[in-house]
Amino acid sequence: MKRDRSEFYNGITDNSHVYFAKMSIKSLNYSGYTVSEWLSLHDTHTTIVATLLCVLMNTRSMSHSDDENLFPLHISAQDVWILTSQALLHTLPDLSREIKFIRDNCRAVFDAPPMNLPYTLCRGTSEVPFVSMSFQGTAADALCVAHEFGHALQLHLARGRFIPPVLREIAAFVAEKVLLDLVQKEKPELFAPLYAAWQQDNTIYFGSDAELLKDALRSPEGPYIYRLNYPLARYFADEIHANPTQFDLESVFRGNLSLSECLSRMQSQIRAASMNNYLPEVPEAEKDRPAINAYRSLGMMALLDIDYWQGESEKSIEEYYSARLAHMQVQTAFVVIGNERKPIGYAMWETDKIDKNVIHLKRQAAPFGDHLYLQKKLQTLFPENAKIYSHHTRSARREQVAW
Ligand SMILES: [Zn+2]
Repeated sequence: MKRDRSEFYNGITDNSHVYFAKMSIKSLNYSGYTVSEWLSLHDTHTTIVATLLCVLMNTRSMSHSDDENLFPLHISAQDVWILTSQALLHTLPDLSREIKFIRDNCRAVFDAPPMNLPYTLCRGTSEVPFVSMSFQGTAADALCVAHEFGHALQLHLARGRFIPPVLREIAAFVAEKVLLDLVQKEKPELFAPLYAAWQQDNTIYFGSDAELLKDALRSPEGPYIYRLNYPLARYFADEIHANPTQFDLESVFRGNLSLSECLSRMQSQIRAASMNNYLPEVPEAEKDRPAINAYRSLGMMALLDIDYWQGESEKSIEEYYSARLAHMQVQTAFVVIGNERKPIGYAMWETDKIDKNVIHLKRQAAPFGDHLYLQKKLQTLFPENAKIYSHHTRSARREQVAW
């Protein structure tokens, strides 16, 4: 029952965004909406997102709250709207003009029929965004008001510019977080139920939504659905909010922060929080026994691929072995050994037949969060100005720039 309500709340919040995301994707000549297109839209790729997902699924605690968040709060939607504006004004004084503008001019309908989906509508550059939701007075509804305020403010600041969906959701989730901050200080009686509702939502974002994303990453050519945005956006909203010196909050609302920027600024946290490398140490390569070294490398690749992503572990042993052997014979496979003499990742590639400076990566695996280290090592093997393209395992038709 509770779960349904949360899903309902989460699902409906962004129905309008699905529509607008599609509109914008179409206008950018994206046809169809696959997971890999969604990743490309955010300038990222499966391996990075898979690692981040491991981190967030391993580190985000999900405490189930009681039904506190379903009780009425004795506060009106309009009051929550004003409180959210105060919270944002306090956090983002340089955007005070825009925040006040949205507070006073955004048409927000809070008594939409309960079955209607909440949404924030962009009405073009000359019109103010429009918010619609059914406010029943619960803590979850109050968070939804803040969430939609965040969307409205970002849409207003973007002035019609397309903002990828994860970045839209980051702004909306940050607005929820700043409301929680303000309430904790100035309306402490509201804090416990609001915080419980926020935690309850986390059980969905970092639970079933994260599972959805995990499955989606295994089939990058499968369909994109809007919920895939939530785990990443929720995670980044928390991190951005918790590390104000590291991130420019204003750029979040202006839609200027890119997902790859978020990822690169958080490399150290991601690395620190990623799974420990449980693989055994490997002995030094043996000078006179190249066959042994080669088999060891194959074994390391297999260990790195076990239970990893992108379908490699589902291939037949013969197919798997012959592909790696072929790469090793022409020296286009490389296993990176970390400081503790444990394998941390590997890659296989092909050099373009026409242009030697173009490298097509066929496989990159770094299951313990060492992608950047792997990339650095690889760069030393490639021509200085090489253009690196990654290959989608399950699609022969698309390549994207790898880094
Ligand atoms: Zn949203």
